[in-house]
Amino acid sequence: MSSQWIFLSGRFVKKEEATVSVYDHGFLYGDGVFEGIRVYSGNIFKLEEHLNRLYDSAQSIMLNVPYSMEEMAAIIVGTVQKNELDSAYIRVVVSRGPGNLGLDPSHCSKPQVVVIAEELNMFPKELYDKGLRVGSVASRRNRPDVLSPQVKSLNYLNNILVKMEANQAGVDEALMLNDQGYVTEGSADNIFIVKKGTIYTPPVYLGALEGITRNAIIDLAKEHGYTLEEKPFTRHDVYVADEVFLTGTAVEVIAVVDVDSRKIADGKPGKVTKHLLSKFRELVTTDGVSCYPDVKLEKAY
Ligand code: PMP
Repeated sequence: MSSQWIFLSGRFVKKEEATVSVYDHGFLYGDGVFEGIRVYSGNIFKLEEHLNRLYDSAQSIMLNVPYSMEEMAAIIVGTVQKNELDSAYIRVVVSRGPGNLGLDPSHCSKPQVVVIAEELNMFPKELYDKGLRVGSVASRRNRPDVLSPQVKSLNYLNNILVKMEANQAGVDEALMLNDQGYVTEGSADNIFIVKKGTIYTPPVYLGALEGITRNAIIDLAKEHGYTLEEKPFTRHDVYVADEVFLTGTAVEVIAVVDVDSRKIADGKPGKVTKHLLSKFRELVTTDGVSCYPDVKLEKAY
């Protein structure tokens, strides 16, 4: 297999040589932002939306991304092309860069930009057919007035802790509530429920990241005539739903068939979930930025 190339602050380096300083505040403090993006058959799905969210996250934490959005788009396309990938997951990281051991980011002279593209299957294929088991966890989603869930910061410890809680409970994914007990989202995915033909998802102000897959599913649902409401709901509403599913760049669209040991309806992926998944699969190869033919990149870095 040919080697994997990583974009690391201005050049492509081999995976084995792609290292950053131990003084990088991204490493020391989780000081930075990131994005996860997918390429489907040469199409970078919703690239513009991902770039907007990356730059919004950076703006929120006063981090200057050292490239324009157009340059960053070219770098991302370039990383996919350099690795000769057709379908892949892309991770974009912008850290505050190397500083000293103090918290003060004014000592960090240069943000570091890393782009990794590689194949990724989040869950084994059979789980997409069978559906996931999900468990609600004790750790709450961090409050929007502390570190806003809209900032996709490198500080994902909260999400890692809930994933560990899910692992320990023997389920596939965690369900996070906010401090008032309303359902927010999974560790790295948004949640939808279906009840009597209406689709519900929590409003993001309750404490969910405004997922790009979430928004794509909202658009698809409306386009295909479903009634969809962004409305607060509790665990009880999830337990008695006709269908439950999760959305995210990594997980895509995946059914949930068991929540806190309550079987959801007949315990099989539901009709609406399957329909939206099939429409999503059609969308992903068209809505975005093509890596082919030649998007010229040299200018970007
Ligand atoms: N919530 C969280 C906490 C996430 O990290 C992600 C993954 N980015 C999502 C939801 C899903 O968002 P998206 O569809 O944009 O990947």
